[in-house]
Amino acid sequence: MTDTPDMQDDAASKLAEINRRMAVALKAGGRAEGAAQLLAISKTKPAQAILPLIAAGQRHFGENRVQEAAEKWPALKAAHNGLELHLVGPLQTNKAKEAVALFDVIQTLDREKLARKLAALKQDHAKTQAVDTPFPRLFIQVNSGDEPQKSGVSPSELAAFYGLCTDKLGLDVAGLMCLPPHDEAAGPHFALLAKMAADLGVSQLSMGMSGDFETALSLGATHIRVGTALFGARD
Ligand SMILES: *Cc1c(COP(=O)(O)O)cnc(C)c1O
Repeated sequence: MTDTPDMQDDAASKLAEINRRMAVALKAGGRAEGAAQLLAISKTKPAQAILPLIAAGQRHFGENRVQEAAEKWPALKAAHNGLELHLVGPLQTNKAKEAVALFDVIQTLDREKLARKLAALKQDHAKTQAVDTPFPRLFIQVNSGDEPQKSGVSPSELAAFYGLCTDKLGLDVAGLMCLPPHDEAAGPHFALLAKMAADLGVSQLSMGMSGDFETALSLGATHIRVGTALFGARD
């Protein structure tokens, strides 16, 4: 597959359309124009599918697997300035070190073992004075529907977990992230996430995907995660 002018036009028009819909939703919600960021979720998509979006001006991307991101993103980041990469899938502790080196934001802090690992990595990072590569910003993933098979901190345990991360372990928590149950309206979950963030005094909210990002924006999302609406269906 080569990067044809058609692919470039297609990526540019899809991106323009999502940006237009974002602007409409932000305005309707009385929010400022730049109040939310679009994350293009490029999981399963090869670099050839990502390059047209970069060429069209997109700079913020998300992946859900460390290994896949490690295969695609170092080269893309080396070739393009100002790219920001978010991890939006579960993180195993044995991949945490690699994730810290690869991602600008880790959105899936979801358990004590991972928090302790990240805190240890943060201390190492501070010692190496890696000024040009800041430690990733962290979001706590909340299992807003308390689904047994889904990762994330239960809403009932969020305040204690946040306290552990910030007070005991010295981690900065920039935001909260959620992935509502497939078979429920997303709005109440987004509203719950927004309320929990406000209660904790956390300002960033990663919520909303291709099918529901306008709802998320109306409820305060600062980061929307859009895959299929930008890249087409995944295999
Ligand atoms: C895949 C994925 C998305 C994007 O979903 P679409 O419905 O394709 O927009 C968003 N968030 C997470 C955590 C994902 O894994």
